[in-house]
Amino acid sequence: MLEDRFGREFHYLRLSITDVCNFRCNYCLPDGYEGRPDEAFLSLDEIRRIASAFAATGTSKIRITGGEPSVRKDLTEIIRTVKSTPGINKVAMTTNGYRLPELIDSWADAGLDALNVSIDSLDPAVFQAITGHSQLQQLLDGLERAVELGIPTIKVNAVMLKGFNDNQLGRFQEWLKHKPITLRFIELMQTGDNAKFFAERHVAGDDVRTQLLNTGWTPTLRGKDAGPAQEFHHPDYMGRVGLIMPYSKDFCATCNRLRVNSTGKLHLCLFSENGLDLRHLLQADSQQEELINFLHTQLADKKVSHFLQDGDSGGTRHLAMLGG
Ligand code: SAM
Ligand code: SF4
Repeated sequence: MLEDRFGREFHYLRLSITDVCNFRCNYCLPDGYEGRPDEAFLSLDEIRRIASAFAATGTSKIRITGGEPSVRKDLTEIIRTVKSTPGINKVAMTTNGYRLPELIDSWADAGLDALNVSIDSLDPAVFQAITGHSQLQQLLDGLERAVELGIPTIKVNAVMLKGFNDNQLGRFQEWLKHKPITLRFIELMQTGDNAKFFAERHVAGDDVRTQLLNTGWTPTLRGKDAGPAQEFHHPDYMGRVGLIMPYSKDFCATCNRLRVNSTGKLHLCLFSENGLDLRHLLQADSQQEELINFLHTQLADKKVSHFLQDGDSGGTRHLAMLGG
């Protein structure tokens, strides 16, 4: 098992497979994807070797993310490859959902266990104002199909933004009433590129927490290795609510994840500096042992916490670089 010097165990890998995205979320890529000419994104073989090496160190869950993972034509093959890696028992993906209706059947067939779709508003005009895209209904239809197909875990991510969706908690809750979905409110994080937006739009997660507690939601007890999200349930609602508060005290104490970006750099934290290059260790199956030794050595340097509360987002300009 990969473990750091603070006793945290890492059994969860977030693997970015592309930086490209077709949305322009105002908190992430307000000017759209601007291109990255220097290096190719990870190949299917490199992805397979990453999955195998992490699995050999005790990783059991891999989340595929981006940029927007579904812009890759070989995404279904990537899901199948990761899923067939011995030791990996959960393959998850985070997507903006624009290709859901067309591709969810093939992703389910390839073995996708968990789907997170980002839907920052259920109001089409607000959704468009945040993401620059108009096909909210198409995305909701795709989500219904995912439920029909019985994808075991389905979550919706919503970043809370002052003046856009912070008055829509009630509408989101109503929507959850008869849906077996967990809705996760994410507190906006400051990144290198969004300082002004952050100062104007950040909503404290504590405010959302108070509203939830005042409307009958109860915190759900979670396992020791459940990760940093808080979860809430309500007897009148089929769905659940989660809250991700990266600025809260002790958020990093339950960190159980590592990240590899789309060009093969290991990030020990979402807000660490430049990433540690793994690519030279991904060129042949015979390099697996060397790769595993490298992972164990590097983990010794993982810091106890990020420095976001000091406004320091490390080298992370926006989360499309790393996948969130
Ligand atoms: N494109 C996919 C999507 O949007 O779901 C996957 C990548 S995106 C970077 C992953 C998650 O990070 C999304 O749920 C997105 O809303 C969230 N995110 C992006 N920038 C963020 C920020 N500055 N603060 C909080 N969450 C952010
Ligand atoms: Fe694209 Fe996801 Fe960033 Fe939105 S949050 S711009 S969908 S990468």
